[in-house]
Amino acid sequence: MKNLSILGSTGSIGCNVLEIAGMFPDRFSVIALTGGTNIDLLASQIKKFRPKVASVLTRDLADKLSERIPSDIKTEIVFGSEGYIRAATLEGIDIVVSSIVGSAGLLPTIAAIEKGYDIALANKETLVMAGEYVMNLASSKGVSILPVDSEHSAIFQCLQGQREEDFDRIHLTASGGPFRSKPVSEFKDITTEDALSHPTWSMGKKISIDSATLMNKGLEVIEAVHLFNVSHKQIEVIIHPQSIVHSMVSFIDGSVIAQLGVPDMKGAIAYAITYPERMPIKQPVPDFAKLSNLTFESPDTEKFPCLKLAFEAIKTGETMPCVMNAANEVAVAAFLDRKISFMDIAGVINKTMEKHNLIKSPNLEDIISADDWARKICQEFTN
Ligand code: NAD
Ligand code: MG
Repeated sequence: MKNLSILGSTGSIGCNVLEIAGMFPDRFSVIALTGGTNIDLLASQIKKFRPKVASVLTRDLADKLSERIPSDIKTEIVFGSEGYIRAATLEGIDIVVSSIVGSAGLLPTIAAIEKGYDIALANKETLVMAGEYVMNLASSKGVSILPVDSEHSAIFQCLQGQREEDFDRIHLTASGGPFRSKPVSEFKDITTEDALSHPTWSMGKKISIDSATLMNKGLEVIEAVHLFNVSHKQIEVIIHPQSIVHSMVSFIDGSVIAQLGVPDMKGAIAYAITYPERMPIKQPVPDFAKLSNLTFESPDTEKFPCLKLAFEAIKTGETMPCVMNAANEVAVAAFLDRKISFMDIAGVINKTMEKHNLIKSPNLEDIISADDWARKICQEFTN
């Protein structure tokens, strides 16, 4: 029996994790859950999985949630940053699924690593903000960071059994998002609804916008740099609209290994929480006879400047990826609030990055203050 803590259980990834846990009740026990503000969904998850602890954002929400839980369920309801850390560090956890969205996922994930708990990592922002710090901490605590992001799960799978010295490069695939073939002259008319409708994946709002701008791929390049300890120069982003090849790795002899599957996060999630075992989660295998058309093309970084910004950020290093990530969160929120246009997103991130004075070899405090700084500056650009 594996005891799971699921941070962000009410999100798209969190719900998929619970679906898998629900399929194998003799294999998984869910002992901690966290949500943000969606207490209706969290209440129904608590009734089904009866965790020891559940956390929400505020005291007020915690009170409301408590009222919805029948008295025979003894789940302790907690809230705020302490609540999330309690859910991440509860005694007896075997693996923490880090699936809060954005920078809010950083500190609970770090707390779980400090405690020595293995992490199934969906929250890529953790590694974008503080990749070096987090990977060093994990290694010093003997903690495994198992990728949930489908591309990183693919790369991880392609690397199994391979010798480090035989590795050449990563080919990180991207669907290209909903605007891959839209002429840039029409970008000014893009609405939030257009940007939220992803062609192949169903995901939370923030990552859907990130996928439309290709910032998601930029964040994933940085995530891969840290997870696999490679240079950004060893990562090629390749557009693959069908989202069947989840990523590839090439080796010094020119051989390429790819991992394929239907575009559904359950495969990558199950592999992360049961690695090295595979679970019979009944995902269909792609119907190859019908897949006559697997295509690949280079990304257009003039049309999607966020991808270029991410490569610049990781090349610069230090606090720049953290600043880019914070500015992106502010810009995406402003776009969702209809305060800025789709085309403004890259512009305000770029302006924030240009204003930043790098902090060299940042510690955790420096990272948090760079994140705060970037939010304030980017907010000025979006108002
Ligand atoms: P989502 O928006 O559907 O869910 C986010 C979760 O985080 C929810 O439970 C929400 O309540 C919680 N949350 C939001 N703000 C919070 C805050 N301030 N404090 C505490 N909790 C908060 O997002 P998602 O699509 O499930 O993505 C989660 C993470 O996984 C992101 O980092 C995303 O990049 C990554 N990811 C998602 C997918 C996907 O298919 N959805 C794929 C790969 C990686
Ligand atoms: Mg991904």
